[in-house]
Amino acid sequence: MKVRDIGKKSIFSLEVFPPKKSYSPESISKIFGQLAALEPGFISVTYGAGGSNIQQNKTVELCRVLKQEYQVEPVAHLTCFNSRKDEILTMLELMKERGIENILALRGDRTPDVAPPGDFRYAYELIDFIRSHTKEDEFDICAACYPEGHPECESMKEDIRNLKRKVDAGVSLLISQLFFDNEDFYRFQELCGAAGIDVPIHAGIMPVTNKSRLERMVSTCGASLPKKLTRMIARYENNPQALMDAGISYATEQIVDLLASGVDGIHLYAMNQPKMAKKIKENVASLIDAHNQD
Ligand code: FAD
Repeated sequence: MKVRDIGKKSIFSLEVFPPKKSYSPESISKIFGQLAALEPGFISVTYGAGGSNIQQNKTVELCRVLKQEYQVEPVAHLTCFNSRKDEILTMLELMKERGIENILALRGDRTPDVAPPGDFRYAYELIDFIRSHTKEDEFDICAACYPEGHPECESMKEDIRNLKRKVDAGVSLLISQLFFDNEDFYRFQELCGAAGIDVPIHAGIMPVTNKSRLERMVSTCGASLPKKLTRMIARYENNPQALMDAGISYATEQIVDLLASGVDGIHLYAMNQPKMAKKIKENVASLIDAHNQD
């Protein structure tokens, strides 16, 4: 099923990453089983920007497992920054063979001012390329967006202009970078509306459950941290259970407010932690049901 149709059925989705070192099919099966039980509209699987082919094929393989063994629609992330066109074509063929219908088309992180080693400079070029090398209804394409602006972009205005170009290349759904202040997301929605970006925008929510992971994420994506959040981390950083509980509460509060404000969808960065995802889903289950029935 394509994401544009899934959105009408379920507004709650999840994101996982391929385990990096010891790939144990048993452990990933267990995680997938628990996440599938949460009945997400789709689960997206990340893709290593500079990773080896083995790592990247893992994304496609995990998508196949989600679809065939758990009947959950997968969205395969695909980055282009380090890739040549022939490598992207190979990946698209592999996806078709595995029955994957949805791609999150990304550029991948890069060092600013360093020329791209592959054939693509921006995600919109990848989207153009997929559109011109596949049949019309073979893939639905999602893309990333940035409520606080992409860190490399000089102004929000310019970032939105680039986003519009990306959407016009053939995007069905946008998934946002994580953010911790919903007002940033609402301002961004307004700017998108004013720019004529009319595809659904799903809000990316990352529960803070670990200080060092948060610091890593924030150093690459540049998300700002409201005082309320930094106070919470400072108070509980040495108490993993308390930080987990506080992080789940913070994310729940964000989601409740987003749902009440009529958000198009919630994309939970589940980070391969099914217990955390389950708690959050349980906290907002009746709200999501109400939205799915609208
Ligand atoms: P683009 O849309 O190409 O934008 C990148 C920058 O270029 C922006 O500043 C934009 O304004 C600018 N730009 C775009 N077009 C033009 C133009 N024509 N002229 C000048 N400037 C332009 N990374 C991974 O490696 N693997 C993943 O699986 C992954 N998953 C992600 C999932 C989500 C939901 C999000 C939000 C991000 C994810 N990322 C992932 C990170 C992503 O690769 C980085 O944020 C990357 O820096 C930008 O990717 P993009 O597709 O948004 O790039």
